[in-house]
Amino acid sequence: MISFVIYSSFIFLMFLITNTIILYYIMINNNEVQLNERKILLIISHPDDECMFFGPTLLFLRNRKNQVHLLCLSIGNESGLGEIRRNELESSCITLGIDIENINIIDHPSLQDGPKNNWDPTLISNIINDHVTKHKIDIIITFDEKGVSSHPNHIAALNGARHFIQSTTSNDIILYKLITVPVLRKYISILDLPLTYLFKNRNNLNHLIFISSFTNFIRARKAMTSHQSQLVWFRHLYILFSRYMMINELQLVDIN
Ligand SMILES: [Zn+2]
Repeated sequence: MISFVIYSSFIFLMFLITNTIILYYIMINNNEVQLNERKILLIISHPDDECMFFGPTLLFLRNRKNQVHLLCLSIGNESGLGEIRRNELESSCITLGIDIENINIIDHPSLQDGPKNNWDPTLISNIINDHVTKHKIDIIITFDEKGVSSHPNHIAALNGARHFIQSTTSNDIILYKLITVPVLRKYISILDLPLTYLFKNRNNLNHLIFISSFTNFIRARKAMTSHQSQLVWFRHLYILFSRYMMINELQLVDIN
């Protein structure tokens, strides 16, 4: 019985790896996403969100001549390391292809890092409005309702962005959210590719998938190491096993 289970597991693993390799080459070489020469605002909640969660997206956009702006809603000062983390964020962003003048880090008394701090969507919406107007942004990207890690500050970023889209008079600005996958899929890195492909809604043109090449994975890893103050042992495991270092899925937010 035990040998049957081991044999079946081995066959399944081989099947998964073979499918992953095939899909990886198909999707790397046939990316259908049409995002070129756009002005894009990525909204994150803390320094390191950009490379922990959005690396594949940022590195794809970088190669398509998009102008990417980053809005970080806090300096991540929960442990008193805010000023260090601000510098780490700038270093990480440069690695990911964001120009230093396009990095905006907010340190507002009502938007302090911490899961127990409630962030007001109206306040976030007003901050977004300033940036969108100033930089003529046409696409906003942020977390979804589960915020990848369920962190309330991540979810607050979506609530603020949604509030902005609902209140703006412009019809030309669209909002994408980063899809959170179940925890069992979060830590199998590129092996999640067959499942990503399986669950992809082929009729939904507003569902974008970004897969990192090995070169881009190394670049995202380098960005992660910019955050030295956060680089505890399990972050190294995160780099190796997190799906978000290799795969991002974005879904257009339907406001109506
Ligand atoms: Zn975060």
